[in-house]
This record gives sequence, structure tokens and C-alpha cells, in this order.
Amino acid sequence: MCKKKIAVLAVQGAFAEHITRMEELGAECVELRQKSDLEQEFDGLILPGGESTVQGKLLRELDMFDSLQDRIRGGLPVFGTCAGLILLAQEISNDAHVYLGTLPVRVQRNAYGRQLGSFHTEQEVKGIGVVPMTFIRAPYIEAIIKGREQEVEVLARAEDRIVAVRCANQLGIAFHPELDADMRIHEMFLRMCGG
Ligand code: GLN
Repeated sequence: MCKKKIAVLAVQGAFAEHITRMEELGAECVELRQKSDLEQEFDGLILPGGESTVQGKLLRELDMFDSLQDRIRGGLPVFGTCAGLILLAQEISNDAHVYLGTLPVRVQRNAYGRQLGSFHTEQEVKGIGVVPMTFIRAPYIEAIIKGREQEVEVLARAEDRIVAVRCANQLGIAFHPELDADMRIHEMFLRMCGG
């Protein structure tokens, strides 16, 4: 099988850990830092954790926003973790912004409160089994957008809240699988990319 090429948005946040994970799984990674990085072909896209407001602003300033949004709409497999999930969400209940808006879910930012900013748990992810979950000032998915329920598969819940979904080519995860040694979520994404 030919090596899959995964683009990782590398303007801010925890992108290096995703690159490490993907390379461990045998994929080739390219860092997206500027518009010219988008001229190449790639099989999948990772939007890492970090600060969604900063990443969203940089995507606009660097003129990468429309091209990435078009490619996701066109079916490019995309994996958003934490801030990356916020960038994908169609609605953000406690933020006036919408960023890429391609994933039909409503998220709440910093949903576990500032003091409870970080925590670790283990929960079942559909099709994979129990996986470690590290949450860092994480969002959660409040709801699937009305009328789109059939398209969105809930993959995991933690503390009764939706924390992982898949909708066709889009995988949205509220926690940080790149920070734990378990590779199965990255493997799942690589399979979505045809790997
Ligand atoms: N709190 C961040 C945001 O709202 C997300 C945190 C993270 O990605 N670890 O963008």
C-alpha cells in the first residue's frame, strides 16, 4: 500500500505530537504553515488542539481558510482534536464566531470550566474499545444540528457528554489522543484516509 500523506495544520498548538503519532503509523506528514503549503496533494488533514480563536484568525490572515474549507466540503478526510473540533463545528454556543463550520454539531468551548480545565479518563469509543482520554480546557458536543442527526455518528461520551463524533469524512474529538500512547484513534483516522 502506498504511504499516506497527512497534512497537519502547524500554525499554533499541539501539532508536533500528531506528526509523531502519524509517522509512527507509517504515514508521511506535511506541516501547513503558509498558503504555498496547500499547493501539494494530501490524503488527510489534522487540525490540532491549541487555541481555536488564534488558529481561526491565523487561517484567515494566512489566506488558508477558504482552500481548507473547500477541500473538507469536497470530502477530504479531516481529524479535529479539541480546538480543531471547535474549528470544524457549525455552531459554538458560547462564542460569536463560527470557523470552518463543516461539522453539523454545536459545541461549547471550555465546557468543563476553568478550574476543572484538565482531566484524564478512560471510556469506550465505538469500534475501538476503551481508550485513554486526556481533556485540556476541552469543548464538548452539546448537540447534533437539527435535521442532520442521521449523518453524525456518536463515537464516545464522557461524563454523559458527547466527546467524539464522525460525520462522513470528518472526525471530531474533544480530547487529545495524541498525548496518550494509545494509537487506535489515529489508526481509525488513517483508515478514513484509505491507509
Ligand atoms: N480551550 C481551547 C479553545 O477554546 C481548546 C483547548 C485545547 O485545544 N486543548 O480553543
